Amino acid sequence: MNALTTEHEASAEVVYDSPPATGAACHGGQDTMRAAAKAAGKSETLERYARDYPAGPHDQPQSMCPAFGSLRVGLRMRRTATILSGSACCVYGLTFTSHFYGARRTVGYVPFNSETLVTGKLFEDIRDAVYSIADPANYDAIVITNLCVPTASGVPLQLLPKEINGVRIIGIDVPGFGIPTHAEAKDVLAGAMLRYARTEAEAGPVQAPRTARSGKPTISLVGEVFPADPVGIGMMLEPMGLAAGQLVPTREWRELYAALDCAAVAAIHPFYTSVYREFEAAGRRIVGSAPVGHDGTAAWLESIGEACNVPRGRIEAAKNRVLPAIRGALSAAPIKGRITLSGYEGSELLVGRLLIESGADLRYVGTACPRTRFSDADREWLEARGVHVQFRASLEQDLAAFAEFKPDLAIGTTPVVQKAKEASTPALYFTNLISSRPLMGPAGAGALAQLINTAIAGKSRFDEMKNFFGKTGSGDAAGMWTETPRAHPEFRDVWRRKLEKQAKARKAEEMV
Ligand code: SF4
Repeated sequence: MNALTTEHEASAEVVYDSPPATGAACHGGQDTMRAAAKAAGKSETLERYARDYPAGPHDQPQSMCPAFGSLRVGLRMRRTATILSGSACCVYGLTFTSHFYGARRTVGYVPFNSETLVTGKLFEDIRDAVYSIADPANYDAIVITNLCVPTASGVPLQLLPKEINGVRIIGIDVPGFGIPTHAEAKDVLAGAMLRYARTEAEAGPVQAPRTARSGKPTISLVGEVFPADPVGIGMMLEPMGLAAGQLVPTREWRELYAALDCAAVAAIHPFYTSVYREFEAAGRRIVGSAPVGHDGTAAWLESIGEACNVPRGRIEAAKNRVLPAIRGALSAAPIKGRITLSGYEGSELLVGRLLIESGADLRYVGTACPRTRFSDADREWLEARGVHVQFRASLEQDLAAFAEFKPDLAIGTTPVVQKAKEASTPALYFTNLISSRPLMGPAGAGALAQLINTAIAGKSRFDEMKNFFGKTGSGDAAGMWTETPRAHPEFRDVWRRKLEKQAKARKAEEMV
């Protein structure tokens, strides 16, 4: 979408401070961006984000632009339009990534320049864009997202109408200097939508779900899970007279009402802080962890049963039905080997539990997500078994764990996997290969073993390759060469002297 020019009622004049430099949040300057955003009236939003998504010890994990999380949540919803407001380079990257992941939806864009940003014309353009597409025949909702620069400049999305022609307007700020991970950006949008839907439900009757309900009390499930997992969870809940409910983030607006209309909420991914706030405001109890492995499933069924006042006999019946099958699946597919694990999806601790129950010698679990009250049970369980759990883990911490524990298999993000393979250690990508498998109940119990044991068994292939190639193509000889690369120690000396000189000059400046 380009600048959209449909006529509509005039809006209040909005004038901004000078815009910060494009892309500044990705490349440092976060303090400047934060200060600019506060000066431009975004203090309240930033303070809420700081409470919901606590930073530190490492506040910006080295992963993708956080806004990808909220963009993905919006793009997956039916009858929902998505508009970005931000620097062209950010929008290019975000739309590229979303189409790479098969979005198959248009991503709207309202461009700006220094003048439209400073004079407030950008806000007018956003209003025009929203009005021009707010057709209830096409959309239930329009999501408009301020990226770094418009957030830092205070573009006031909160002044947009709450609905136009019956189409809900959701404006969110998702700056890289306020939201640490893309996982938490999913929470920003899912929480904003749930809040909107809760207010609608409190005001009067709302749309019924598309599919008929089972009539049983439901457990809403929060977090993106493997498609078969909710089915498995439903089977585990059945003896307690409960059913698996709506998955959040939802795929359609009316599903938000179904999610709120539950007996309790399963916080499968513990980082959805604003989503849980909305559920608690609706009077729903939240249960952390998930039915993974034998111990995890037993504890989870107990907690859900208690939260829903299920009689003891029924809780025991649910456990008796499923736990022997899980124990059988775990012992039939043991995992042998030392493993380090890291990722940014939010399910790392659950996978860690499953690995340990499968027999793996797990030493380290790193997650880019923050510690929350809903991850306490999993953290305590893992720590009691000698696992180091690192929240807000940085790449350096993941690599240090790899160096210290010398695992037979490293499960991690792309740079961790790359480092491990360079060291002839088998490695698997967490996002693509591990978090995209069933984890819950009996189906999850045996699902990881074959993949992991096969990967560990591949160690000899790495050794053979290493022996064959030696140091060829490593370090500064990496890449494509038409001739055998020759070392130039003289260039290296010149460069080293130049860097030393620069360092001395910097030091001298600091002392002045
Ligand atoms: S919107 Fe994303 S890509 Fe753009 S500057 Fe902010 S963090 Fe970086």
